[in-house]
Amino acid sequence: MDIEKEYIKKKYEDILRYCKGKFNSLDAKEKYYLGIVLFELGFLNKSLELLLEIEKVYVDVDKSRGYAYMGLVYYSLGNYKKTKRYLKYSINLNGEYSIESKNWYKLYALDGEVYKVVKQPHITYYFIEKIDLKEVENFILKYKRAYDRIQSFFSVILQKKIDVYIYCGRRDVLGNNLSYANPFFSSIHVNKDEDAGHELAHIISHYAVTRINNKSKLIQEGIAEYFNLINYKTLIYPIGLEINLFQLWNDMCGLNSVSYACIAKRFVSLLIDRKGKDIFIKLLQDQSTDNALNLYGECLLEAKDVVEREVIEGKLQY
Ligand SMILES: [Zn+2]
Repeated sequence: MDIEKEYIKKKYEDILRYCKGKFNSLDAKEKYYLGIVLFELGFLNKSLELLLEIEKVYVDVDKSRGYAYMGLVYYSLGNYKKTKRYLKYSINLNGEYSIESKNWYKLYALDGEVYKVVKQPHITYYFIEKIDLKEVENFILKYKRAYDRIQSFFSVILQKKIDVYIYCGRRDVLGNNLSYANPFFSSIHVNKDEDAGHELAHIISHYAVTRINNKSKLIQEGIAEYFNLINYKTLIYPIGLEINLFQLWNDMCGLNSVSYACIAKRFVSLLIDRKGKDIFIKLLQDQSTDNALNLYGECLLEAKDVVEREVIEGKLQY
């Protein structure tokens, strides 16, 4: 197998099948690409093991992507010194992934170019732009409240502190739209007024289960919004709107994101009310409609009816 070609074609399953069972006979190039593939599939620690093994070995490839991934795995472990080291290796190679590495370096403020850093027991806050000290205080207060509330539900042990990068505008340092979270790296990029728990819930719920199968947008957004302390005042969907929650399971069906979040939140809160935390965590593990029906049975259909009726009648409010 030409593993490089298969990687470019994104034939990950073929690569895994090829490597399975003959790990010790793989050559350096094959190990390199297996490491890359494992990273992209979310097996970060396994990926690092492999990439470390061939770090000092000559491999006939541009290693800029491998070094970047190593740097990012170290970031996910909270080892910022090694993150910087490997991202710099990647940048200095001027390879196919060097620009991305430069961007990661910037995005995670590894150059120290921030207005203010506040370290707290579970979260480090990076205020990127100049901001009023009163606003700093307020932001930290609401985030801490949200964190405590989410953790009192999930009680998760995180492998590193959560890094929160706070902006005053609507775009991050690379020009991407805010706000968003990256659960693999326990990092959040956020506008100072936009979020109080939503992105944190994305991260903490990610670590509440060993692996998420069949991710559902409705469940993911529902749990994130369930813990958001911000109440939107502008809910706009037409009265008489007919929705089908099974169709919304992975598709916004043309709804705006606030309406979608509101519907998802209501649905998730009904599920948690009816059967509690443990069953809900089983749903997080496998978010397919089949598994939802399995776990909730009649309850699921009843909750679905309630939400759909509330939307038609225009009763569902934030
Ligand atoms: Zn979200």
